[in-house]
Amino acid sequence: MTTVAEPAELLRRLRPDSVTHIERVPTRAGETVPWPGWVPDPLREAFAARGVTAPWRHQAEAANHAHAGRHVVVATGTASGKSMAYQLPALAAMLEDPRATAIYLAPTKALAADQLRALAALGIDGVRPACYDGDTPREEREWIRQHSRFVLTNPDMLHHGILPGHAAWQTFLRRLRFVVIDECHTYRGVFGSHVAHVLRRLRRVVGRYGSVRPAGPTGSSHAPVFVLASATSGDPATSAKRLTGLVVEAVADDASPRGGVTFALCEPPLVPSYERRDRPPSQRDRPLEEAGGPPERSGSSAPDGSLAREVAAERGGEAARGGEAAPVRRSALRESADLLADAVTNGVRTLAFVRSRRGAEAVATMARRSLDEAVPGLGARVAAYRGGYLREERRELEAAFHSGELLGLASTNALELGVDLVGLDAVVICGWPGTRASMWQQAGRAGRNGHEALAVLVARDDPLDTYLVHHPEALFGRPVEATVLDPSNPYVLAPQLCSAAYEAPLTRADLPLFGPDAPAVLDELVAEGILRRRPSGWYWTGEGRPDVDLRGTGGLPICVVEAATGRLLGTVDPGSSHFMVHTGAVYLHQGESYVVDTLDLDDAVALVHRAEPEWSTHARDVTSLSVVSVRSYVDAGPVGLFFGDVDVTSQVVSYQRRRIGSGEVLGTWPLDLPTRELRTTAVWFTLSPESLEAAGVDDVPGGLHAAEHAAIGLLPLVATCDRWDIGGLSTAAHPDTGAPTVFVYDGHSGGAGFAERAYKIAASWLQATRDAIDGCACETGCPSCVQSPKCGNGNNPLSKPDAVRVLDVVLASLPS
Ligand SMILES: [Zn+2]
Ligand SMILES: [Zn+2]
Repeated sequence: MTTVAEPAELLRRLRPDSVTHIERVPTRAGETVPWPGWVPDPLREAFAARGVTAPWRHQAEAANHAHAGRHVVVATGTASGKSMAYQLPALAAMLEDPRATAIYLAPTKALAADQLRALAALGIDGVRPACYDGDTPREEREWIRQHSRFVLTNPDMLHHGILPGHAAWQTFLRRLRFVVIDECHTYRGVFGSHVAHVLRRLRRVVGRYGSVRPAGPTGSSHAPVFVLASATSGDPATSAKRLTGLVVEAVADDASPRGGVTFALCEPPLVPSYERRDRPPSQRDRPLEEAGGPPERSGSSAPDGSLAREVAAERGGEAARGGEAAPVRRSALRESADLLADAVTNGVRTLAFVRSRRGAEAVATMARRSLDEAVPGLGARVAAYRGGYLREERRELEAAFHSGELLGLASTNALELGVDLVGLDAVVICGWPGTRASMWQQAGRAGRNGHEALAVLVARDDPLDTYLVHHPEALFGRPVEATVLDPSNPYVLAPQLCSAAYEAPLTRADLPLFGPDAPAVLDELVAEGILRRRPSGWYWTGEGRPDVDLRGTGGLPICVVEAATGRLLGTVDPGSSHFMVHTGAVYLHQGESYVVDTLDLDDAVALVHRAEPEWSTHARDVTSLSVVSVRSYVDAGPVGLFFGDVDVTSQVVSYQRRRIGSGEVLGTWPLDLPTRELRTTAVWFTLSPESLEAAGVDDVPGGLHAAEHAAIGLLPLVATCDRWDIGGLSTAAHPDTGAPTVFVYDGHSGGAGFAERAYKIAASWLQATRDAIDGCACETGCPSCVQSPKCGNGNNPLSKPDAVRVLDVVLASLPS
């Protein structure tokens, strides 16, 4: 009995007080161009047989670059046919030269399998494409090495398998013409920095087998051409250059067709205080889904620490209530559940994306409940979906959704992995999914032929979410978030040089490939006895292969093990282990909740058991930071902006239990953990005390601390990081700067590139931070602006108005 309704109907039903913006993304017709003249007939016919009669303009443009030997990155939207950008030049080369080979790298095995199907379907003779990954049976591997000309694999397999065993691949590598790097925006941070060196190692090994070394940044005619595919991002050419070490052309003008979407941005309204006592159970989800990662540490260097305590006393013990006593918004989960229920009532097929599994289940439960209240039985048309469902269960769900038996579905983004659900009427995105690429991927599920689709983004209590729903130009205008990585990180470079030396002794001629810091790092490795220097080069001295983890910066990861079963749930990098898996910590793994029994640092093991306590845990620490060196700075009168190396010393000293939902502090438990040292990169700004006084800043520590929190929250706007990748410290007087200072640092040894990006784009980053704080409707600061879910100082002191004044001083002085 479904009444077919237009999604527009749903749009009219959105709470007018919560809609901050409506954007109409118009239908785009798409623009095709003739096949490039160099595309051989059989290839053209193969595409025609698959229904492709002509390429979109961006596909041809990218393919032309690659065919001409220029490295290229194509950075266009989801489903814009990026694969053709590499298929055309690579397959054309293979048809022309029956020995030419290509290698394709994907971040996931599933994507590689997908691309294998697409390649195989083209049915080009003699290419014999094959996936080569951890699942490939041993007996097939030899055949692939000998006969496949198009090998689809992943960076881990390249690092652990192909490069160390390059001798077995020498025929393939000698003939290598194309290297394809799909979804290259996923190679960011420390992992991205490692992958950058894996690619350099590939270039070196190929150079050894080829007749010419891949010396210069423009490559040579004998070196393979790199074709990269990326989601739309800020400055794809620069990111691609950092990743490959090569000069890369960018094609970013998407010419594929697109259905129209009406995009509504929503911010749930603030809840009047009398309603707050009885918060819905859905709020249980919020603090939990945000747990994890290295926390930000604040203002606890000695002089400021005492100030902080004074301020706390003055405010009548606000600190004792933790950060949760501030104004709260109606939960994004509740808002999404209402939208889902409304949609189902109106016969609009809707999918809600929620970040955590518990959140997805809460949304489905709330929607079902309110539907059943309206029309008993209607609730049955809403379901929750989570990853881990069996294939048959997924197919059942798809079938029920396609038949209209199910109208509403709440899912985690696990749905992106396995269920074929497209052509929906509406998509609700509960909380900013982290990047514009994910946002469009999720919104892209909506839209049927000839129907205008609806997408709604519901902001959570978070500075970035709040900023985005009030600044639609950041979502719908030119992207600013760039994929950030830092191959010069010595904690990445050292193990990668060892891997390279293991594969073949490093020679002086190899060094430029690994960057200007390589000679110094090699000297250290020699001094430590890890490498041996001989006249012919640097040699690996160890037994076997260097043990290098592409996702870490040294140190043994802590294994999280379920005590009862011995099952390994996951690993936590040593830098975050004190915060995430200390004794008594509540640890989340794939939406399941565990409590840590013991953390054994000597054996690098945390033993946990399944439990769902009524509280979340929040580690408290004492941190100090010292400046090691300044790499670059801007002298702007009363304000200084710096980028450099810092040592962060921190000790987790206790943790709090806070009741889920109310945030009430249930008590503080001491912890006995050693101090930790982190050498990393930071961006910091200083202000003269006079300038702060002139600007009317009353509470200097509170203003700096609040500005620091919001700045960390907004950093993902300009660099694709998570706020958990970043730490911060603010102080009214820092011994190394002699001034009021705010530091924001990379939470990984050696830095991951986030602080560097923040330094380079500081004016727009801090402007967005200022606007986010100023634009928040709360009076004294809330989780949507200056409060941080991971403050090591219990969100105290904080001054929202002084944070705006502090940032105004900085922005008035900094050149834009
Ligand atoms: Zn606020
Ligand atoms: Zn803090």
